[in-house]
Amino acid sequence: MTNIIVTNGDEAILQLQDWERQYGITAGMTSRQGGVSDAPYASLNVGLHVGDDDEKVIQNRAIVAKQLGFPLHKWVVGEQTHQTHMYKVQKKDAGKGAMTRETAISNTDGLYTNETRLLLVSLYADCVPIYYYDHVHKTVGIVHAGWRGTVDLIAKKMVEQWQGEGHDPNNIQIIIGPSIGACCYEVNERVTFHLEQKWLREVTVDNNDGTYMLDLRLLNKLLLIEAGIPERAITLSQLCTSCSNTPLFSHRKEQKTGRMMAYIGID
Ligand SMILES: [Zn+2]
Repeated sequence: MTNIIVTNGDEAILQLQDWERQYGITAGMTSRQGGVSDAPYASLNVGLHVGDDDEKVIQNRAIVAKQLGFPLHKWVVGEQTHQTHMYKVQKKDAGKGAMTRETAISNTDGLYTNETRLLLVSLYADCVPIYYYDHVHKTVGIVHAGWRGTVDLIAKKMVEQWQGEGHDPNNIQIIIGPSIGACCYEVNERVTFHLEQKWLREVTVDNNDGTYMLDLRLLNKLLLIEAGIPERAITLSQLCTSCSNTPLFSHRKEQKTGRMMAYIGID
């Protein structure tokens, strides 16, 4: 069962494991290996919205649940819409979105909680998972940041939400997980149009043909620093979902494909 979770020495994954040991939380990301789905979803697809057989997706989720020690009725899944709504998960939300899409927390790409025994789950095939942890308030969060959410500042939004509840950004630690890298993420002006000049220089390479290679992870890191998170408290993954040497789903590369999950919960 060791191939379900991405574990290959990536700094972000090692840091997630460190959080698990240090803080008594469960946090990580699944790979595409160790499940029951057939191509193009092979094999550990945990997304119900991509055209796979629902029963197989639930079987895959059950495999992950067993490995993590968080049963499905403790999972909470958001209906991701590439917007910037935040949702504070409470005990009454346990199980929402775990078995069907209909019960998912509607229209939210940012989930957080200070309750124990709830697993916050969001789904990925290239977008950037951002993990949040505040050891003073013992609060965990996960943000799903594609280009749209990133330029709409969803990474900062979680920090602001927590500040509104009395958190100090100096106590918040961040892990930015596996996602499409600047090596593979070509975008055009439809995307870069939204970037301020100061970011454009730092996070893109101009291909001089109207397209750019965009480093979404770095952009999110810079936005988090601007939101008051100390740079030393942010760990960045170097794993690219689209490069072929990693066992990950990539929407950009494969179009029709499965989804991995990023998860975080307090034990
Ligand atoms: Zn790549």
